[in-house]
Amino acid sequence: MKDMPLLLDGYRTFRAETFPANRALYRDLVAHGQSPRAMVIACCDSRVEPSTIFNTRPGELFMVRNVANLVPPYEPQGEFHGTSAAIEFAVTGLEVAHIVVLGHAFCGGVKAFLEGLYGPDPNRPFITRWMSLLTPALRDLQDSGALSDAEAARRTLELASIKQSLSSLETFPFVKAAMAEGRLALHGLFFDIERGLLLEYDPAVDAFGPVDGDGDTGGVSPPGGA
Ligand SMILES: [Zn+2]
Repeated sequence: MKDMPLLLDGYRTFRAETFPANRALYRDLVAHGQSPRAMVIACCDSRVEPSTIFNTRPGELFMVRNVANLVPPYEPQGEFHGTSAAIEFAVTGLEVAHIVVLGHAFCGGVKAFLEGLYGPDPNRPFITRWMSLLTPALRDLQDSGALSDAEAARRTLELASIKQSLSSLETFPFVKAAMAEGRLALHGLFFDIERGLLLEYDPAVDAFGPVDGDGDTGGVSPPGGA
């Protein structure tokens, strides 16, 4: 860690201030175990910090982050599924009441995929395969002729990645069962980095709009930010 002074400085602050101030919370979380209110599936992007956006404390969010906040379909015959394992534990073990798919503006993974940078590439076998989860959404874009405007296409695909993950979640039998029993709700959110705003997916109208109680938004910001 000697080459990472920034991280060590942060850790020293955590040890000197944050941990002592939250000692009782950590003690309680150890004594009673975790009981997070929600699972969040977010992108790895360093600008999109779920615990900052939701202003949560340790113990409140069960989180998995991956490139472009994608959920693969239910594939029990597959080999190593980190995201699926986290979903399984959240739903069947922790019995979370909510799963939030958190997408965001200016997603580098989506942009690279859109530009064909994650096409077949033997030097990038993992990310190429992972981003292919977005291929159906890309085909829809191609079919609608919406690819001509690169910025608009990227925003559309960023939103599509959220919708696709919500659809994939419903292919997991234990997710479907929990939803049918009213024990679990799914949510799709989009984080507009520039404006610090969250937009929520409404499946009834197949569109994203302001979250409840947030009047400071006119919907999805124009491509490229506003
Ligand atoms: Zn991203």
